[in-house]
Amino acid sequence: MSSEKQRIVVFGSIVQDLVSYTDRFPRPGESVRGNVFKSGSGGKGANQAVAAARLGANVALIGMVGEDMFGDTNIKDLTQNGVDTSCVGKTNKTHTATATITVNKEAENSIVVTLGANLELSPEVADANSSTISNSKMVMCQGEIDEKGNRRAFEIARKHGVTTFLNPAPGDAKMDKTILELVDVICTNENEAEFITGIPQNNVDDAKKAARAMVEMGPQHAIITLGAKGVLLASKGKDDIEHMSVDKVEAIDTTGAGDCFCGTLAAHLVAGHSMTSSIRSAANIAALSVTRHGTQSSYWKLDEIREKYPKFLP
Ligand code: AMP
Repeated sequence: MSSEKQRIVVFGSIVQDLVSYTDRFPRPGESVRGNVFKSGSGGKGANQAVAAARLGANVALIGMVGEDMFGDTNIKDLTQNGVDTSCVGKTNKTHTATATITVNKEAENSIVVTLGANLELSPEVADANSSTISNSKMVMCQGEIDEKGNRRAFEIARKHGVTTFLNPAPGDAKMDKTILELVDVICTNENEAEFITGIPQNNVDDAKKAARAMVEMGPQHAIITLGAKGVLLASKGKDDIEHMSVDKVEAIDTTGAGDCFCGTLAAHLVAGHSMTSSIRSAANIAALSVTRHGTQSSYWKLDEIREKYPKFLP
């Protein structure tokens, strides 16, 4: 089998995060002074690509940025993390996506995301990259781009026997749920599971019902992440729902933990590990990421994990 066939292709978003830390949020019309400013490369697609690449997977990202400084920085960061960016396009129609984030003293955040170039990730872009998609082992999509683009990427993947992985985040009540018929593995948090199934999520039993309901909608496997409570797995043809717990950690910053989980899980699955051992490992490696600040910068590399927590690898 060629190495291309071991490849993960992420068809997804790239976002420049711009974070201001203030004592309190400004009221409408008011200007407040920030204490610290940080910027970083992000976007759910890019984050998942970086998480998988840091675990040693062969990863390409099909994405779109504007012809601006943020686009160049994001491409550079992806490349430095080992992600193949040769399929990241540049558009002069709009800007690189931005997330303008304000964090107050209570660590609450308020976020404006302007999707910009991500919305140019259309079915035509999927078609233009169809050979990259069809020569891969797994295609991953999220909810941060035009959903018609996701659908086309999955249609191409299905036609060529490529595994499809959907992380429908951020949750959107208006999402076209028929895409689940094209999905092999779906991974959500409780909030997204509620949007998809309509089952209110108040406890682990509710999440188990939602995981079961999602499997009925098409996927072979439905995974629900539960923060510090770990992960649930429901699979077609299996009555019992597995609950994998995570070791307790001192959580400092949970931003991007879900993306770390998805990217790590994908890296393990394409390497040939079982679904259960891949989930168990991804849950513990995502838990490691919450012990560090930042998003992509909080993701542990394979060598570090081998050295400090070899038991977390599958
Ligand atoms: P979430 O998207 O918040 O459900 O988080 C995804 C995954 O990250 C979880 O399934 C855990 O493996 C890990 N995680 C998130 N928050 C925590 C936490 N506070 N403590 C330990 N692990 C966490």
